[in-house]
Amino acid sequence: MPPFPAYRPEPRFFELGEEYGDAVRAAEFPQAILRFRNDRAAATVGLETLTDEEWVAHFGRFQPLPGQPGPVAMRYHGHQFRTYNPDLGDGRGFLAAQIRAGDGRLLDLGTKGSGQTPWSRGADGRLTLKGGVREVLAAEMLETLGVPTSRAFSLIETGEDLERGDEPSPTRSAVLVRLSHSHVRFGTFQRAAYIRRPDMIEALVEHARSLYHPTVAAGDTPGFLRAVVEASARLTARWIAAGFVHGVLNTDNLNVTGESFDYGPWRFLPHYEPGFTAAYFDQFGLYAFARQPEAVFWALTQLGGALKLVADAEPLTEALNGFGPAYIRELRAAFLARLGVTSLGEAADQRLLDTTLALLREGGEALRWEPLFFDWFGGFASSARALGGPRGKLYQGEAFDAFRFALFEHEPERPERLEHPMFAATEPEEMLIDEVEAIWATTDAGDDWAPFHAKIERLRAAREAWGLAGC
Ligand code: AMP
Ligand code: MG
Ligand code: MG
Repeated sequence: MPPFPAYRPEPRFFELGEEYGDAVRAAEFPQAILRFRNDRAAATVGLETLTDEEWVAHFGRFQPLPGQPGPVAMRYHGHQFRTYNPDLGDGRGFLAAQIRAGDGRLLDLGTKGSGQTPWSRGADGRLTLKGGVREVLAAEMLETLGVPTSRAFSLIETGEDLERGDEPSPTRSAVLVRLSHSHVRFGTFQRAAYIRRPDMIEALVEHARSLYHPTVAAGDTPGFLRAVVEASARLTARWIAAGFVHGVLNTDNLNVTGESFDYGPWRFLPHYEPGFTAAYFDQFGLYAFARQPEAVFWALTQLGGALKLVADAEPLTEALNGFGPAYIRELRAAFLARLGVTSLGEAADQRLLDTTLALLREGGEALRWEPLFFDWFGGFASSARALGGPRGKLYQGEAFDAFRFALFEHEPERPERLEHPMFAATEPEEMLIDEVEAIWATTDAGDDWAPFHAKIERLRAAREAWGLAGC
């Protein structure tokens, strides 16, 4: 293997000891066909110079990277749809490596679909190829929309036939690797509380504080919770502004870094619909679009409950109470960023948020989520185009005038991004909603990967044009 100078292994989770995870081995797959490698993400951890052969050896056959102790399936519990499950843990994935990135932050390479572990509970430990494609697209979309997210690092088809009840059977298999700032979940703390191990909670707080929230002082457990609350509020606000529904906000799917991950039944909102639900098995709409703030707050209270074993209740409650104000503040910032205007102070920003939401609400099914943001991206500069375009007649009336007034108070942030050719070339609905669903639906049918890769390229072009920095 050639030396890669920017690669800095730093396996820190493993230092916690063997009570936090179990050494496991990857499954031996009949095939390893590279479908996607994220060279930009790889460059952040010094791995972009790997040849395709080396890439497949590390991320399809899981030969350990230099300086890494080998795969560990992480232990955790969690509430699933508000029911406590002490039988969770990495059932089809593991932590494969930890690497210090160029920006100084610590990143994990974690797998999905890499085989059975002690936490598989009789399931196969596998991921469908369709599921892998869904996670890649979700991560790429969210990054483009300025949401703090894990990144899809690698997708390799593995040549097995999987039986899945809810899909045409058999279906193709794959293994995904994701790059994320930590995989320590709220449920990691819940497990330590459940087994009555305050010493483990203390070790986890110190681990997550020092590595991911270093501005919090050592020993300041409420300060640590406050940092997680703030990061989670920011994440939730960014989902809402993106029109994103995660689908499964269980406490094992929420990361202490406030970065979203684990994209299964996610969906984007076609138009304003608070009750819009992503997962077919979410019968009561617990994780519906507009209930996501409540879901994240509820999960945070469970994290707070676990921390009560090592800190006083009062300052922890105070930290939790910071969620509401932080969420509203971050929601203003998130909508401003999507509309491409700069802050004018709290009152004017709040007016813009309120009038944007009112317009989306009033527009109902006729006003889809994306065109609003596309047409008005860049503020004033785009108004003529929007009024002359196919949705021109929606942009009239009282709600619209209030929105326009609030928007025009603000300065456009980067008017030049409207010059980017992709705005002329692509219909926004297609780009951000229908096309993703179409790519997903057809991937299983054949081997035409061109639309998938073209989609990723367009998202990257959009990212450069819009400049929404999420992660
Ligand atoms: P999720 O809802 O995807 O976050 O998964 C919840 C739990 O089920 C986690 O502990 C997963 O590791 C486990 N799990 C999901 N699918 C499988 C599978 N095919 N094989 C083994 N474990 C799985
Ligand atoms: Mg999960
Ligand atoms: Mg899943």
